[in-house]
Amino acid sequence: MTNEELWEAVLAQIQLNISPANFATWFKNTKITSQKEGQVLVSVPHSFAKEWLEQKYNKIIFKILHSLDDEIKEVKYLVGKQDLKILKRERVAISEIDQLEFQEFKIDKETNLNPRYTFENFIVGPFNELPHAAAWAVSKNPGSVYNPLFIYGGVGLGKTHILQAIGNEVLKDFSEKKVKYIPSEKFTSGVVASIRNRDMENFKSKYRAIDVLIIDDVQFLAGKEKTQEEFFHTFNALYEKNKQIILSSDRPPKAISALAERLRSRFEGGMIADISIPDLETRIAILKAKAQERKVDFSDEVYNYIASVIQRNIRELEGALNRLVVYQKINNQPPDVEITKTLLKNLILSPAKVATPKKIIQAVVEFYDLKEKDLLISTRRKEIVRPRQVAMYLMREELKSSFPFIGRKFGGKDHTTAIHAYEKILKELETNKNLGEEINLIKQRVFSL
Ligand code: ADP
Ligand code: MG
Repeated sequence: MTNEELWEAVLAQIQLNISPANFATWFKNTKITSQKEGQVLVSVPHSFAKEWLEQKYNKIIFKILHSLDDEIKEVKYLVGKQDLKILKRERVAISEIDQLEFQEFKIDKETNLNPRYTFENFIVGPFNELPHAAAWAVSKNPGSVYNPLFIYGGVGLGKTHILQAIGNEVLKDFSEKKVKYIPSEKFTSGVVASIRNRDMENFKSKYRAIDVLIIDDVQFLAGKEKTQEEFFHTFNALYEKNKQIILSSDRPPKAISALAERLRSRFEGGMIADISIPDLETRIAILKAKAQERKVDFSDEVYNYIASVIQRNIRELEGALNRLVVYQKINNQPPDVEITKTLLKNLILSPAKVATPKKIIQAVVEFYDLKEKDLLISTRRKEIVRPRQVAMYLMREELKSSFPFIGRKFGGKDHTTAIHAYEKILKELETNKNLGEEINLIKQRVFSL
């Protein structure tokens, strides 16, 4: 049989077995380009089709081919270059992605603000209502309402977005104000460089001329004594002049270990607001709004599916949506739920989304700024006892591990120690709201590892 005849025969049978939409999506513009030594090469128009055929249809394609010609032992797929029209469309889609990423570089050199982050495109739901209201109030009255404003929450939940939005909004209303956004690591490297170059005075005066100082991810100041000291003085100088200070962190001030007490109490002196995890309806609303921004639309079923499988991170919701947008651009039609599932398969089924003992230990160690071996050996050191109890609690709660297993994992303790730890935390959770928050943040971390 010629290449054409052979492929026609295959397509005829496949067509009988799958929906017309799927057939059009995955088999349009495919063909056999060669058959040689038992290997058949199938050319496909783009890499999505390649992935899909390999993962989902290869078995049936091979079966049909083999039944038509039993010399055939293997099928390979490759992205062909011949279909110019489709290739061009793919290129359009890719260049749009490039452009989106390009926007990231439109950051203003003076303020470090990215115009992409605004209040207009920040979606508000029960999970972030308070930080949003506080941020808005601050941007309308810099220096005179909540000072400092301290916003905390897990990874990918909008801390940077909201901080940057404040900066952008302030400049809209008060163009004369000096606004500066800076990630805390960058502040630290600034301190270190000024010490090395002996121009601390210059550094100080630069920071003290700022009207609105925004420092992102201050948990990274933990343990950096010299930076903390410098920051403390900057903070006081600005605060006394009624300049606005805005801070973010992945945890509340009291949970940042190795933070000088005087700095901690400064952080706690204004308004503290946390961003929690968006509920299902809000996640759907976020997806819809982002789709609208991108000028695409998908079925409610598709939005529902994505929002039900991605729960803890808005950045991941955006990532999922991006994949759908690319698919839509290439195929000129929106994916249905089945296709969506496949498109997102490696986002969702990745082992990253399940808890394991290893991840729990890592998350606890990182959160309390400990060394793994401290947590795992037997010690009564006060600063270790509590984190270890939390880790044991999480093993029980998240993994349903047996108490003897948990005991063994933590320095060969017997199961009664594990039971005691679990019950102690459980009981304390009833009354201690901070502990609940702490554990939630650790959980978020476990699931983002
Ligand atoms: P964090 O700093 O907390 O890790 P980001 O601020 O970087 O998170 O947010 C991650 C992504 O999710 C960004 O692209 C941001 O624009 C988007 N995002 C987060 N929260 C919201 C929201 N409430 N509305 C719209 N987009 C959001
Ligand atoms: Mg951030």
